[in-house]
Amino acid sequence: METAPVTMDARFRRELIDAVAATVIAHADELTKLDQAIGDGDHGLNMKRGFEAVLAEADQHAEKPLPDALKAIGMALVMKVGGASGPLYGTLFLTLGKELPADPSRADIVRAGNAAIEALKARGKSDIGQKTMLDVLRPAVDAFAAGRDPAAAAMAAADATVPMKAVRGRASFLGDRSIGHMDPGARSCALIIAAICDVAGRA
Ligand code: ADP
Ligand code: MG
Repeated sequence: METAPVTMDARFRRELIDAVAATVIAHADELTKLDQAIGDGDHGLNMKRGFEAVLAEADQHAEKPLPDALKAIGMALVMKVGGASGPLYGTLFLTLGKELPADPSRADIVRAGNAAIEALKARGKSDIGQKTMLDVLRPAVDAFAAGRDPAAAAMAAADATVPMKAVRGRASFLGDRSIGHMDPGARSCALIIAAICDVAGRA
């Protein structure tokens, strides 16, 4: 059954921006530690820098209709995050901005989520099962499509990257030694999804 579209106003968009930025910034040290274990240790600072830049212009972003706000946030992330994850998160937000209408329905969100996953795969030359943020996005979109909690699915999926072997990004340089650690991008992605669900659940 199709649910009513979410009514997006500037205040709701601002709450989403604040919640996502706050969780990324609050977990920067944790993301750094995860990336120190299987990467170069910059994921926490990269993401913190990016979302501080988003926060600095939060009012301007929130005033825009959802598609334009997502595109502007995507551009800010491309410019500020850096590393592998900057272009990837940028692609994610830009694709959602291209695909979502101003007041998205559940079906719109599923379709846009699927399009963003395909865009990320193309950008990262990567696929599901390679110990990346894709391993959180896929089950989260599937959970949402099935009427289950995407936040719980995302958190469980980030945990499920621990036994995986990385085949993309810096962690792949470690080969088998990447096994036994959570992927930092999977964790940041789960945190972002949980923050969005938290705000949407209160709406
Ligand atoms: P870098 O690896 O350049 O230091 P970050 O540390 O900011 O960049 O981001 C690392 C995260 O980016 C990884 O944990 C992984 O989730 C994600 N990632 C890296 N390469 C890819 C890729 N090719 N496809 C999808 N995700 C990737
Ligand atoms: Mg890194």
